[in-house]
Amino acid sequence: MKIISLKRSLLAGLLIQMISTFSLGNGWSSNGGDMTRELDNIWNLGQDPVKYCVVSSADYPLSHNDLRQMVENSLGAWTQFFARYGLQAAKFGASQSGNRMPKFPDRKARGISLDFIELDSCPPESVDSVVRFVFGKIIGPIQNYLYSSKESSLGVAIRKAYDHNHYRNGGYVFVANFTNDRKKIKHMLLHEMGHMFGMPHDSVFVMYEEVAHLLTDNQFQADHLWGHIENDFWPYRLKSGESVNLSSESSRKILKKTNQSSPGVCQNQSMQTNRKIPPKLRQRLGLPANGCHKLVLTLGEKHPSRPSHRIQLALKDEQDRDIKVFPGYIETALTHKRQSFSPGLYTKWLFPNSSSYFERLPLDQVPPTTPAKGSVKIGDQNIALRLVGQNGIQVELFLPWSDKWWVARSAE
Ligand SMILES: [Zn+2]
Repeated sequence: MKIISLKRSLLAGLLIQMISTFSLGNGWSSNGGDMTRELDNIWNLGQDPVKYCVVSSADYPLSHNDLRQMVENSLGAWTQFFARYGLQAAKFGASQSGNRMPKFPDRKARGISLDFIELDSCPPESVDSVVRFVFGKIIGPIQNYLYSSKESSLGVAIRKAYDHNHYRNGGYVFVANFTNDRKKIKHMLLHEMGHMFGMPHDSVFVMYEEVAHLLTDNQFQADHLWGHIENDFWPYRLKSGESVNLSSESSRKILKKTNQSSPGVCQNQSMQTNRKIPPKLRQRLGLPANGCHKLVLTLGEKHPSRPSHRIQLALKDEQDRDIKVFPGYIETALTHKRQSFSPGLYTKWLFPNSSSYFERLPLDQVPPTTPAKGSVKIGDQNIALRLVGQNGIQVELFLPWSDKWWVARSAE
């Protein structure tokens, strides 16, 4: 599951310093972990199509043609995802409104490559510009990285050390023969493919770092979750007009991997017992302890010039009718330059005065919704609120009556 970067000896001194390296033979070697900043780089930039091929083992539970179709569909799902957030059009090295982007050494602007062409068969392994989607079959350097990794061996995405001259990188995107369940295979494929697109772990539901634990734990019926990049409780980013339910018992159980229900659990798994609301607040709102509710956060309009949004927190009933509504606002912390959940690129850039430096830039220029601070109105009181992105979305409200923070999470 970890993407592992393999170094080319020419670039090694430049790219991988202070990292203990180990050789795995056949001219390949690895830094073996998450320690270099180009590890999460987007593999391919620019408009030229990326060539790929598909390989599968004879005993794989899905046919070769099925798998080819699944690769094509999954590339399409990621393309739609990037389009949904405007990232298919975003470019590194191009001036954007409000900020002057540093330039690539060749001064050409580049975006994420989303045009893919399938080859009829895989070329010899010495051709390293091709992305090889491999199902079940242990070929090339896969074995070394699959089994030397501390992570589960359900999948891996590996490439050579990042090509900082052309920004074109082939490699292996591997999914093991670990289940007959088509949706789970697709989920693992989407995860490994996400590494190829530079999506960091925990940036969105499918990139959950513990994905292998979810997929191999059979005690939960989570069929509806597999094979999707995002879901209701863990989107990449909330957009204006969108909501997230902070009371879903089912999502919490899935990510926490616990079978235990909270006391007085509600029949409806998207709801939570009113006992989860701090007693003094519950009394003020006139809610019975033995009822159920959903706490739903909705992101409203953005302020025209500031990184702030109107928001609404609402307690809702089973039919999604409002019981209580708390309007407010949030102001995002201005950390988007270093935004860690965006697909990004750590490489050599030029300042306008032609001096150069290495830096990671996010592809996504929209400030993330989290972390943010703000307030909501409960009755006639302004209540301080914090919004944190933590495997889903977490809302924290400071309740002056009890001098405590009330924390509600969409998932874990
Ligand atoms: Zn991973």
